[in-house]
Amino acid sequence: MTSIKYLIVTSFFLLVTLHQSPVYATEFDYPIKQITDKIRVIFGPMDLPDSNNRGYRNNVIIVDTSTGIVLMDPGGSAWSGEMVAKTVKSMSAESVVAVFNSHAHGDHWLGNEGIKRHFPDAVIYGHPKMKARLEGNDGATWLETINRLTDNLADGKQVVAPDRVVNDGDVVTVGDTDFRIIHTGSAHTDNDIMIEIVGEDALFTGDVVRDHFVGLMEEDSSFKGNIEAIDKILGLNFKYYIPGHGEVGSADTPISYRAYLKALRDMVVELFDEGVESYEMKPRIVEALSDYRDWSGFDLRLGGHISRAYLEVEQEEFQ
Ligand SMILES: [Zn+2]
Repeated sequence: MTSIKYLIVTSFFLLVTLHQSPVYATEFDYPIKQITDKIRVIFGPMDLPDSNNRGYRNNVIIVDTSTGIVLMDPGGSAWSGEMVAKTVKSMSAESVVAVFNSHAHGDHWLGNEGIKRHFPDAVIYGHPKMKARLEGNDGATWLETINRLTDNLADGKQVVAPDRVVNDGDVVTVGDTDFRIIHTGSAHTDNDIMIEIVGEDALFTGDVVRDHFVGLMEEDSSFKGNIEAIDKILGLNFKYYIPGHGEVGSADTPISYRAYLKALRDMVVELFDEGVESYEMKPRIVEALSDYRDWSGFDLRLGGHISRAYLEVEQEEFQ
């Protein structure tokens, strides 16, 4: 009897132990797709940052120029930045000479640190407000958060902010390739840059467009501004829209994300006018937005999106 009991107890603890052992990513094995002659994209998973993905969860853009490699959003942790650097080294003899960061959310810039470990001379570009946020409290907070969420497997040691700032209309020339910056004010954040790879008919949108993905919208974001930003880039009529998360698409990709933002905002306006409080809106909005239920992050983020849109609509009433 005792031995059976012992066996059961031991098996139980063994199961618990097995269940709790995290599976650490030791390799960086994600799909890489050639989009145009010059552009490749590494597609990150849609999961939240954890010890399994070590903070990597976004699209990384690799552009070949005549004088070296240009990266956009090199991953969400120092570890993933290093893995991106190693991937580049395995594909090309060229060095990384420039990096663009689309905005101040950690999954888009924490990889800077890993890139600089391998390519210390790479010049990092971001919006002035993005640089200011990283050099203020936000940078340290993101670094602390990613290390905590990944049991320190993110391997973050320091905040690596952009070296140079860029703003709407700026063109950065690297070898034979021009990169044109688009910033339209508050959209996904107040510091988004979208980057046109001139001559390739392609635009990297950062999180101004996301494909089947409902992610953060915080105090500095604007549903109205995000919709207007998408209208602007749709007017520019690119062949390839490369989102911060999800698949590369044609105009359908921004159109579909715009439709989500507009449906949510319109519902909030309608319910606001009926006098419904922010916290009472969710069931009716979930119902109205049922087309988007299968989007990654829908259950997690919808409440936050409603609160954010509500505050925005409320503020507009007082203007
Ligand atoms: Zn973001």
